[in-house]
Amino acid sequence: MGYEKVEFPEGTTFLVTGAAGFIGSNLVEALLKKGFKVRGLDNLSTGRIQNVKEFLSDERFEFIEGDIRDIETCKYTSENIDYILHQAALGSVPRSIKEPLLYEENNIKGTANVMEAAKINNVKRVVYASSSSVYGDSPTLPKIEGDEGNVLSPYALTKKVNELYGKLYTELYELECIGLRYFNVFGKRQDPNSQYSAVIPKFVKSLINNKTPIIYGDGKQSRDFTYIENVIEANLKACKASKEATGLSYNIAFGSRNSLIEIYYELCEKLEKNIEPEFGPERAGDIKHSNANIDEAKTLLDYNPEYNFIDGLNLTINWYENNL
Ligand code: NAD
Repeated sequence: MGYEKVEFPEGTTFLVTGAAGFIGSNLVEALLKKGFKVRGLDNLSTGRIQNVKEFLSDERFEFIEGDIRDIETCKYTSENIDYILHQAALGSVPRSIKEPLLYEENNIKGTANVMEAAKINNVKRVVYASSSSVYGDSPTLPKIEGDEGNVLSPYALTKKVNELYGKLYTELYELECIGLRYFNVFGKRQDPNSQYSAVIPKFVKSLINNKTPIIYGDGKQSRDFTYIENVIEANLKACKASKEATGLSYNIAFGSRNSLIEIYYELCEKLEKNIEPEFGPERAGDIKHSNANIDEAKTLLDYNPEYNFIDGLNLTINWYENNL
């Protein structure tokens, strides 16, 4: 694994916000495997306690049910912490279009609280989840840092504001912050059950249950699907990157592109199903194509993703077959 050789001194402590979510719980697992002390914070809004159940008996893991919208919670959970891996946020572009003020409160105020608490507690570094959605309507492909367009949803706006806060806290208060612009992450424990679930878990669940999934649009929209292990590598390497790398945000992806329809038929083949999908209307706020240039993360974070799309997909299918 790309992060196995990333070393931290003994006794290093991490706070993972959004610990009961998909990415957060995978980070918790990786950090515990490496022998570190981990505190997890989550309000269980979209995350599930089930995702961290197997770690609760580990004495190096402490789970706190709490909300990043509350500054006091952020303050006490970041006491005696070296690194914060901040994942807590509401995802979903369509939901943000329905409930913009909830996103403002949760993702913008919540992230500002996490950074403020980190500053007060002299946390070494905050590595936080941003998103490829900050590229908005920029037609450039592959997406490259510095060439962002207009954001297309309240969700994307919250991530853009998070990045501005990250830059400001680095420059004004010397709190080192690094933003990771994730591109469509997938892997074990990603929730297939919500109306806002991501496509891969949704397709896999439908197919395993012999149901017909709906593809919004013509299915030709493409994404840079990124396996979770690559995202773990990026987080750990961002903690260790040089000071020059702080105050900035980086594309975290594999650097390739697959269309939804391609993925759908790939999954049908792997799961040995012969079900034609239904097509629904295009969704507002969706980007047509997304594909990352990852040179900046390679150079400044030493990020070298090891899992390509197909390797990641095989591991993910395997997990769902045993866990759905
Ligand atoms: P997720 O919904 O599985 O995890 C988010 C977690 O944050 C959930 O457990 C939720 O309960 C928690 N949370 C939300 N609001 C909170 C609050 N106010 N206080 C405490 N906890 C709160 O989503 P995920 O896919 O694991 O995403 C993690 C992060 O990565 C998010 O910031 C998301 O915007 C970002 N991101 C994810 C993807 C992706 O493809 N999964 C892509 C781009 C960016």
